Amino acid sequence: MRSFLVAGNWKMHGDSAGIKQLLSELLKALPAEPGIDIAVFPPAVYLAQVAAEMAATPVAVGAQNVCAQAGPGAYTGEISAAMLTDVGCQYVLVGHSERRSLYGESSQLVAEKAKAALTAGLIPVVCVGESEAQRDEGQTLEVISSQLVAVFAALTAAELKKIVVAYEPVWAIGTGKTASPEQAQEVHGFIRALFAKQDEALANELRILYGGSVKANNAATLFAQADIDGGLVGGASLDAQEFSAICRAAE
Ligand code: PEP
Repeated sequence: MRSFLVAGNWKMHGDSAGIKQLLSELLKALPAEPGIDIAVFPPAVYLAQVAAEMAATPVAVGAQNVCAQAGPGAYTGEISAAMLTDVGCQYVLVGHSERRSLYGESSQLVAEKAKAALTAGLIPVVCVGESEAQRDEGQTLEVISSQLVAVFAALTAAELKKIVVAYEPVWAIGTGKTASPEQAQEVHGFIRALFAKQDEALANELRILYGGSVKANNAATLFAQADIDGGLVGGASLDAQEFSAICRAAE
């Protein structure tokens, strides 16, 4: 039985005081014992603060990026998976479309980051998704498949069992355009079928999140789809009421 996960990607937003306030509002708004997994992904400099404040709560913490090299070593500006574990992270996003498009991260590098995360005991949330042009050209499933092939090549069967996949159509991220539940389900079903080719049991257990303008008013219909196991939420995760309503929709 797959447990739902709702993950809030704060991107490059917030400061110490604002984050303290957001966390306190969030803890008041969330059910004391949510029947789902919840995680927030603050900017790296606030990870230790958020992990300390969330230590005795049901909210887990994840990073938005990780170095592909295990280190320690001469990788100026990078943060290793071991460091993320050390400050209390349980998850890390890899391959978010903003990292792929703005920082040139290839599917190969994304797969290496997933491997580094797993080696340090983190759960990588591997993000995949097509651009609007690729969807218009009918290439959606081909793009998703090529992004995941790199992951299949880099990870062992035992490692694949531990990952989470997030399907995020690039055209739906931060745009207010959401994939329809049918469009999302088609891709989620396709992703599960790709994993089933590796291992049927693994595919049945795999959590596949949908991301792309998830809000309180569209979460329930998306989460009702057979192969959607929660959400990766950007903008709406910065609002405690909105994020908690999305979590409740997943429960
Ligand atoms: C995201 O950043 O992963 C995302 C899905 O953003 P938004 O919810 O704002 O579209």
